[in-house]
Order: sequence, then C-alpha cells, then structure tokens
Amino acid sequence: MNPDTTTVTDKKVKIAVAKGDGIGPEIMDATLKILEAAGASIQPEYIEIGENVYLSGNTSGIQEEAWNIIDEAKVILKAPITTPQGKGYKSLNVTLRKSLALFSNVRPVNALHPYVQTNFPKMDVVIIRENEEDLYAGIEHQQTQEVVQCLKLITRPGSEKIVRYAFEYAQAYGRKKVTCMVKDNIMKLTDGLFHQVFKEISAEYPDIISESQIIDIGSARLAANPENYDVIVTSNLYGDVISDIAAEIAGSVGMAGSANVGLNVAMFEAIHGSAPDISGKNIANPSGLLNGAVMMLSHIGQTEVADKIKNAWLTTIEEGHHTADIFQEGQSVKKVSTSEFAEEVIARLGQKPKQLKESKLASGAGTINIPSYERKVVDKKLVGVDVFIDWSGSNPDEIGNNLHAVNSAKMKLKMITNRGVKVFPNGLKETYCTDHWRCRFVSSEAIIQTGKPHYPTVEYDHVLTLLTDLSNAGFDVIKTENLYEFGGKRGFSLGQGE
Ligand code: NAD
Repeated sequence: MNPDTTTVTDKKVKIAVAKGDGIGPEIMDATLKILEAAGASIQPEYIEIGENVYLSGNTSGIQEEAWNIIDEAKVILKAPITTPQGKGYKSLNVTLRKSLALFSNVRPVNALHPYVQTNFPKMDVVIIRENEEDLYAGIEHQQTQEVVQCLKLITRPGSEKIVRYAFEYAQAYGRKKVTCMVKDNIMKLTDGLFHQVFKEISAEYPDIISESQIIDIGSARLAANPENYDVIVTSNLYGDVISDIAAEIAGSVGMAGSANVGLNVAMFEAIHGSAPDISGKNIANPSGLLNGAVMMLSHIGQTEVADKIKNAWLTTIEEGHHTADIFQEGQSVKKVSTSEFAEEVIARLGQKPKQLKESKLASGAGTINIPSYERKVVDKKLVGVDVFIDWSGSNPDEIGNNLHAVNSAKMKLKMITNRGVKVFPNGLKETYCTDHWRCRFVSSEAIIQTGKPHYPTVEYDHVLTLLTDLSNAGFDVIKTENLYEFGGKRGFSLGQGE
C-alpha cells in the first residue's frame, strides 16, 4: 500500500461518489467544484446510498449497482449519511467499512490557530482507529426480560493490521510517537489482546516512541493537552469518540477529513455526520469533506493537485473567509455560505498560506506495508462451560442449590455470577441480581478448592448431556459459552470474586 506513489496517467481516475444525506449534497457539490477547478484528474461515478435507498424499501441502504461501481473504482468519496438512533436500519457507514475490509480509519486533526479558535494552537494529532470490529460488529441480543447484550469482538489479525498500520503511518509521515489507548485493566482478554499486539509490534519500530494509556485518562489528557500526542492507535468505539473530541477542540467538527483504508479499496469522507439541523441552508462547512478529498487525491497519486487545493484552502482560512461554525468576530473577515466558501477556495488556487504550515504532499511520504496475516497453530482444550440461565428469582443460594441438585455425571457447578459478580457460593447479600445468571460448570474431577485450580479436559458430549439435564430439570438456558485453554493459557475471564 503506497498512498503517495500510485502512477498518474492522463486517464481520469474513476471515483465512486456518494452525495449522502442532510448537508451531504451541499458539501459534496462544493468539494467537487473545487476539485474540478484545481484540475483533479477524476471521473465521478455517482452511487445512490443512504436514507432515500432505505426509504425505497432497500434495507441495506445501498443500491446493488453501487457495489459494482465501487468494485471497479476501488476509491469512494462519500458525504455523510443519516442513521437512526436506537432503532431502524443498520448503519451503512459501518456496513461499507466492514464489507470492503476498510480496516484503518485515519483521522488527522490539527489546529489552525489563530484563524480558527482553539485553546491548543500547536495541536497536530493523527488518530488511527480500528474500523471493522469491536462493539461495532453490531451483534446484539435481548436474552432475558431485563438484559440485552452486545458482543465486543477483538481479533489478533485485526489488531495486528491496525497497530502495524499506525507504526507504518508514523514512519511514512515522519511522526515520532504512537500512543495506544485501551481499557485492559477491565477487559483483560479483548483490550488485553489489542495491548499485547501493540507491545509486540512496537518492538519492531525502535525509532518511534511507543506508549500506552488507559482510555479514560488518555482521552481526558487528550482533551486537556492534545499537543502532547502525535499518532494515537485504538479500537473502534474509543477511536470514534476521541476523534470527535480531537476535532472539536481543534476548532470545529466540520473541519476534519478521514480516510478509511483497506488493502484494495479506500473510502474518503468528513468525520462529521449529516447535520440535519443545518441541512438545506447552504451554511455547512465543506472543509471536512474537502480534506477527505485531499487525502483521496494523495492516495491516487495526484499529490500536486492535493497540495494545490490544500494550500488554497489554508489561504482561505488564513484570510478570514469563514463559514458560520468557525466564524469569530474580530478574527474572521467575512461570514460565507457553503457555496461562497468553495468560490473563495477556487479564487486562491495557486496561492500558498503565509502563516499556516504549507501542504507538501508532493514531496513524498514513505510507503505503508501491511504483511499478510499468518495464523499460528495453538493447542485448544475445552475445560468447562458457562451456562446462562434466565431466572426471575432473587436468591442466589436458591438457584445455586437447585443447580447442584441436577445430577449431571461428568460436570459440576463451580460458581454463579450475576452481571459478572460472584453470587454463589458465598455471595454478598447486598449484590443486586437481575434475571441473568451465568453458571460456570467444569469437570467433576476439577480441583478448585485450594491452590492453583486445575481443570481437566471436558468432552463436548458432557456439555450436551449437562444442557439436556438442565432443560429436563426446568431451567431456561438462554446461551452457553465454552471455556477453553489455548496453549495452556486460560481463555476466559474470571468472575469478580471468583
Ligand atoms: P453531526 O456531526 O451531523 O452534527 C453535530 C453538530 O455539528 C451539529 O450541530 C451540526 O450542525 C454540526 N456540524 C456537523 N458538520 C458540520 C459542518 N460541516 N459544518 C457546520 N456544522 C457542522 O452529528 P449528529 O447530529 O450526531 O448526527 C447526525 C446524523 O449523521 C446521524 O444520523 C448520524 O448517525 C449521522 N452520522 C453519519 C456519519 C457518516 O456518514 N460518516 C458520521 C457521524 C454521524
């Protein structure tokens, strides 16, 4: 993958263009006008995605022909689309990123002080967010009357790709430090894997400083002292949150662009949403999408045009022609509409900023190489099962004793947790219990009372027999999770207090 050295030919590069919802069409028209005036050698192929497609009855939110256009073009320029909160169709943004394996979401955010109001004049951060997995896998279930769950999936190949991308990006763009943000003091397996991969891969880049922070204090520090950060790599949800924080404190969420990069396809967009509150008013700031388009031009090798546009844009900002979101009395010269802003940028094509840092993409960046993943063979051993039971009682001893009474020859109850806290045996009477009981069964021969627990192998047939016995005894089993050891290491979390 080489974002800056794709061969440029006279032939126009096909780009799949989606105008999106809300302010999407306004900012896309402004952006394309600037690209055309600057001489970008592209051929937009329009695709229909978003609200209108959903409303026409297509629940995927994307027309079938659009996939063919994307497949041919391999590059997408996309305006924001609307996704309903809490109900309705699935996010098409997430579908596009996952279906097209756009594993890396790259969001550079830098201050444009003093032209755009910010408390952090030297801020210059690139957030590299994992884009395909984590809680955004979107696998959710209601399991009992009171409990819903969302699966957080973190994979080794996914973590390796994104962490490697962050270090390769830092190297290619002359960045000095990569900070990993995780919450592995709590999620020891999922965030623990991401952190472990970070430690492994950072060792291969001794010239780049690497550090890790817990996401809560990390995001607080990012908000308080963004100038201390360079490149940040993190998982999907955390990255989504902190990149908006970063954009907002840099001046406006309307300014930052992002690249969604895969090994074969790449999609470029603004980081903000469809802003329905200002849609149709011709007042939106097109800068986020324009910056996404500049990244796109760099990706397809048209770095000179990319620099020309970026420098005209920086000059426009410097000369105080601002849309309403960044307009400040005393600093700004003129409040302009979306379309007027585009005209101002076009009028400055060929100019360079006097104070702000000039864009020099054409002077080249290094290459980004992501090796293909090689799966290692590790010994896998089944040592038990967590059986989740829907039970509306409230006394853990009652369900515990009833489960003990189930006579399943090969497996025995080890403990019960409720929302992760051990409530049987020997729970605290203060612990609040809902109707969702995680009941851990291990081999009847397991030694669990003293010292280091030892879990003998369990046959899956034993699990099936246990489930039949539980069902016959009237328990409402809602799901199971097998307990494995991989390479002799425990592959499941302990209950709090276990
Ligand atoms: P939003 O980013 O659309 O808007 C947040 C605030 O920022 C609003 O006050 C808005 O007016 C302002 N704003 C955003 N972009 C601006 C711009 N270019 N110029 C000036 N002001 C701007 O976030 P939201 O309101 O939470 O989401 C609206 C919709 O967008 C939702 O349906 C959401 O799912 C969707 N969304 C889409 C994407 C995407 O397509 N990539 C990303 C985020 C949100």
